[in-house]
Amino acid sequence: MFEIRTRARDSLARTGTLHLAHGDVRTPAFVPLATRGAVKTLDPLDVQGLGYEMVLGNTFHLLLSPGPELVAQFGGLHEFMRWPGPIITDSGGFQVFSMGHGSVADEIKSRRPPKTGRAQTGGAILEISEAGVRFRSYLDGGERLLTPESSMAVQASLGSDIALVLDECTPFHVTRDYTARSTERTHRWLGRCLSWHEQYGPPGQCVYGIVQGGVEPDLRAESAEVVAGSGCPGVAIGGSLGQDKAQMHEVVKWSTAVLERVAPERPRHLLGIGEIDDLIAGVEVGIDTFDCAVPTRLARHGVALVPDPAGRWRVDLAKARWRDSRAPVLEDCPCPTCRAGHTRGYLHYLYRAGETTGARLLTLHNLSFVARLMEDLRAAIDAGRLAEVAGALRAGAAPMGAAAQA
Ligand SMILES: [Zn+2]
Repeated sequence: MFEIRTRARDSLARTGTLHLAHGDVRTPAFVPLATRGAVKTLDPLDVQGLGYEMVLGNTFHLLLSPGPELVAQFGGLHEFMRWPGPIITDSGGFQVFSMGHGSVADEIKSRRPPKTGRAQTGGAILEISEAGVRFRSYLDGGERLLTPESSMAVQASLGSDIALVLDECTPFHVTRDYTARSTERTHRWLGRCLSWHEQYGPPGQCVYGIVQGGVEPDLRAESAEVVAGSGCPGVAIGGSLGQDKAQMHEVVKWSTAVLERVAPERPRHLLGIGEIDDLIAGVEVGIDTFDCAVPTRLARHGVALVPDPAGRWRVDLAKARWRDSRAPVLEDCPCPTCRAGHTRGYLHYLYRAGETTGARLLTLHNLSFVARLMEDLRAAIDAGRLAEVAGALRAGAAPMGAAAQA
């Protein structure tokens, strides 16, 4: 299922190919979010055209609407959204737990909570028990129960290529004791997910276990061993990764270092992380796939990704200073937006005017930027030059898409 091509000599980085039911995915790869069955503002042909081979569908949202039964009637998520390539679905757990703990989603991923609070949280967790998690739907206020078995059943109806087991996502502020008990329950849920899948899972669907353990090195190590020992074909790293980027990169490295020892051949997915510097750091510690809302969400907020590490790799086109700028989003960028000659001034205007085309044009640019970054990193690993290329990227000295143009 996973074939490793090149292993870096001076880091845990590797290139490879995931062979999945709906096709191959070259790794390391970024996986754009198709949360509700669509990569926001794009269609599948756009996404493929940017070089992406896999997208991520969200079990929690698709469970509430339109519901797995309806998607199954259409022949599964691939047919429903007309995406021919591989799809990964999450378990739904992250959204349920984020909803319950208020701004915990931001805390888990060490982001600051939004100033406006969380507008979408009409829902709430009612109870976390051994059985699963009972919550109130944000759509209709009805009570729902998400269990390891029901999460797998929904993902079976969706027909994804990769399904993720249900885990509890603990926020950063909980005690070590709570994290330890929660991680053990997550391991029991892993066992239940795998038994359900063994009996009823669709043929060809791969299940990834999830390493938890918060920011405790020994709990992370133990969790990585338990997940690897469960025999699941792939491993995801989730949960609280710390309070800042340095700690996050450290926690991920603890997990991959153990996985390198106990399951070196199995693919690794890092859940919900994907800012540019995180992608570079994640690849260096041996992550194979990433998913994250950042590139697409920034686009909808008028922010373009650019090779400027000092500016957090971003330029905010919503700012008034771009009003009369005739500069492209990014000089020599091969994305459809820049190729068409769109200016910063025009994108600024579209954003201010609330024109959805603006979000689409920036989504195309941002996802193209990330696709080219991943292509450069893959080429660098294969050429034995990752340290050099990563260093140049961090110094803002590497032209993006160098590999693609070479
Ligand atoms: Zn562009």
